[in-house]
Amino acid sequence: MGRRLLSRVGCECPLCGARVAGARLCAGCQADILAAPPGAGPRCPRCALRPAGAALHCAACMAQSWAFCRSVAAFDYVPPADALILMLKTRLRLNTAPVLARLMAQALRAGASLPSDILLVPIPASRASLLQRGMNPAAEIARSLAAELGVPGPRHLLRRRRESPRQATLGRRARQRGAAGLFLCVEPLHGRHVAVVDDVMTTGSTVNAAAAALLEAGAASVTALVAARRP
Ligand SMILES: [Zn+2]
Ligand SMILES: [Zn+2]
Repeated sequence: MGRRLLSRVGCECPLCGARVAGARLCAGCQADILAAPPGAGPRCPRCALRPAGAALHCAACMAQSWAFCRSVAAFDYVPPADALILMLKTRLRLNTAPVLARLMAQALRAGASLPSDILLVPIPASRASLLQRGMNPAAEIARSLAAELGVPGPRHLLRRRRESPRQATLGRRARQRGAAGLFLCVEPLHGRHVAVVDDVMTTGSTVNAAAAALLEAGAASVTALVAARRP
């Protein structure tokens, strides 16, 4: 069975098993995972965190200059929504990718729009992850997202200059140091607007390194599109 067909078969909400039409969450699960935590403000447009109080930009964005100009996240990487990411990354359920892409497209439509000639570029997986999973979750999400948004399919323009230690085992500082200069863009971008696609944004350092490489190659702007943002 082709992957495309496989992605259309999902007739159960991946989180609760309720019957649904197509690759989507049931209305109840969707409302649960998209709801802001009590007292939380809107997401910071730059990094997609939810700053405390009425601040427009969060402390991280006050203290740091990012290479990407804004970030859009569908939901926070907390239970039960994190299970959606784990289904794709750990249980290799590829039919979770269109569910995530649909949520990301909804988050995008709720905010500002992307230029119609946007280039979607997934973050490349490390060699170790590719060997372990046989696929790149970010690329799977980007492919579904392109279909969802009606834009051309993702372009695999980034290469890793080196293999990095497993990010999940590192602290914030070490992640930032480890990600600096991590990527290379293999084509000149001649002023194109680019959206970098990843599954989870944790410190932002990986997406930032990707954005820096794309700007260096001539991108006019880089937007980060992620399924989940770790608060
Ligand atoms: Zn459900
Ligand atoms: Zn921010």
